[in-house]
Amino acid sequence: MDNSCIFCKIVAGEVPSHKVYEDGETLAFLDIRPVNPGHTLVIPKAHYKNMEDVPEAALTAVMATVKKVGALLKAKLGVLGYNIGENNDPIAGQLVPHLHFHVMPRREGDGYQLWPQRSQEASEADAVIAKLKS
Ligand code: 5GP
Ligand code: ZN
Repeated sequence: MDNSCIFCKIVAGEVPSHKVYEDGETLAFLDIRPVNPGHTLVIPKAHYKNMEDVPEAALTAVMATVKKVGALLKAKLGVLGYNIGENNDPIAGQLVPHLHFHVMPRREGDGYQLWPQRSQEASEADAVIAKLKS
């Protein structure tokens, strides 16, 4: 446990949360500022900062819980689909440095926008691939 971490405090029961699902390694609870009703955060109970920090076995357990939560939202809240998000590092919008996946229910006409995209020259894609393979 990281004593300065709000999500560790939720795991420890020191900060209240609306629990959606829990097992030995993972916890799912409602986001305090939801995109949509049912917006759920899924975390490993152990404190890992991000995707680089988390061991694969713990990540596997977290993703299994993400899958369960998605199915639960569809079955019980009647949502038609959901977005899964993970803001990895502050530059990507990560505010809480304890790995977490957002499961965000989608409803018709909810107005939620995905990130903007743009076209790409072949030379840009070639340069990216060359760097990745170097
Ligand atoms: P991030 O930007 O790090 O990906 O998202 C952090 C999320 O945690 C935000 O959506 C925020 O609303 C949520 N959050 C922050 N503090 C608390 C809290 O004390 N309780 C709950 N349930 N959610 C929190
Ligand atoms: Zn933590």
